[in-house]
Amino acid sequence: MVSSGEWSAVDILEQHLAAIEAGDGAVHAFNLVTADLAREQAVEVDRKVAAGEDPGLLAGVPVALKDNLCTRGVPTTCSSRILEGWRPPYDATVVTRLREAGAVMVGKTNMDEFAMGSSTETSAFGPTRNPHDTSRVPGGSSGGSAAAVAAGFAPLALGSDTGGSIRQPAALCGVVGMKPTYGTVSRYGLVAFASSLDQIGPLATSVADAALLFDVIGGNDLLDSTSLHRPTPRALAVLDDGVDGLTVGVLSEFLDGAAPDVVARVHQAAEALAGAGARVEEVSVPEVAFGLSAYYLIAPGEASSNLARYDGVRYGLRVDAEDVAAMNTATRSAGFGAEVKRRIMLGTYVLSAGYMDAYYNQALRVRTRIIEGFTRAYHHCDVLLGPTAPTTAFALGAKVDDPLTMYLSDVCTIPSNLAGHPAISVPFGTGDDGLPVGVQLLGPALSEGTVLKVAAVVEAAAPPLAAPVLVEGTPT
Ligand code: GLN
Repeated sequence: MVSSGEWSAVDILEQHLAAIEAGDGAVHAFNLVTADLAREQAVEVDRKVAAGEDPGLLAGVPVALKDNLCTRGVPTTCSSRILEGWRPPYDATVVTRLREAGAVMVGKTNMDEFAMGSSTETSAFGPTRNPHDTSRVPGGSSGGSAAAVAAGFAPLALGSDTGGSIRQPAALCGVVGMKPTYGTVSRYGLVAFASSLDQIGPLATSVADAALLFDVIGGNDLLDSTSLHRPTPRALAVLDDGVDGLTVGVLSEFLDGAAPDVVARVHQAAEALAGAGARVEEVSVPEVAFGLSAYYLIAPGEASSNLARYDGVRYGLRVDAEDVAAMNTATRSAGFGAEVKRRIMLGTYVLSAGYMDAYYNQALRVRTRIIEGFTRAYHHCDVLLGPTAPTTAFALGAKVDDPLTMYLSDVCTIPSNLAGHPAISVPFGTGDDGLPVGVQLLGPALSEGTVLKVAAVVEAAAPPLAAPVLVEGTPT
């Protein structure tokens, strides 16, 4: 409608800015609302339409960006004190692609510090709250992006997923979130957490919107050496193809630790797929049970290396001291929160000379076994189905003092990161507490088209989810 001149990008933006103004005090989805920049971009979209130029595939669509995506001249904090005051000198490739497609960037979203967490509670700027119930967490680490979409602050958002950080918050906030195949979306300008696992992906209110956003941000990028050399995906084109003739494996290991109300929704989604023509069977991939343990050796190892660059010299915060080493220590002690310090210490330990073989290298062997397990399952299954998270959104504060319980939130999402495979979370009704449940579809590398078309069938069968009400009288 913006492309045809029926609606103006400026009007759409102002509606969303008003929703943010009214509701974000209760949610805290944003670290920064970039209203002026967004207004400039919206004016430019309307100018292009008036001039008869192509305004792009996402003309005038407000998009929220996780605050670990570099935005030129705009603060990028990773919700950490250590990046305070830092303004990147360049845009992430995904940001460039969004701008070229006519999207309007409304702001930077809150997250767990350096994306380490499952609830946004490790943010140095205070937690985000779940729009469906503000006493609950939105999940994490892309909790701000998921909450922004759920609350109607932006129809699209980008997140990053290293061990579930797009899919788990999408599930807890009742929106769609996809982690694409490793290498399909450029990571240039994504602040690194664990480089062999990190992927950028879409959050949206529907499977079709997620596919559209994936189409815009995907495709080879010479600025990311891990970017795959293949044409831009065209996920949107296959969305309506249905599931006739496909085999869906219900992954039994994922059901084992999940709450009964979540398991019930997974079975209901499986029945819907069977009803739509898919063959549904139960599948076991015993190796995935070791995913969490392997991840918590590999991810901290990579993080300890990546986060060495925050030295008080190159970026953000600096705490002066008598010599350089003391300055480094003082800066890092003041700038990093407890969870980040825990990961750096764990990671340094597992990479250290006497322990690398026993921990880090052993975890890499487990990672290979997980890939082999999935490969076996994909000999006879097109996609796998399971819960995204073992429970619905938990109460703020419930798990902050118990890291191991917090880590368990990602038990169903981490295996896809270790394998590099795509996976999507689709809202599917609510749990006993009335809060959203997400079901997860997993596929082999580069199967986004298949995963998305199965997701579209699940979405069509999903029980309706009531929109959150943040301001009395205005459901989002
Ligand atoms: N919750 C997981 C962690 O804390 C995953 C985070 C992520 O995907 N960025 O590491």
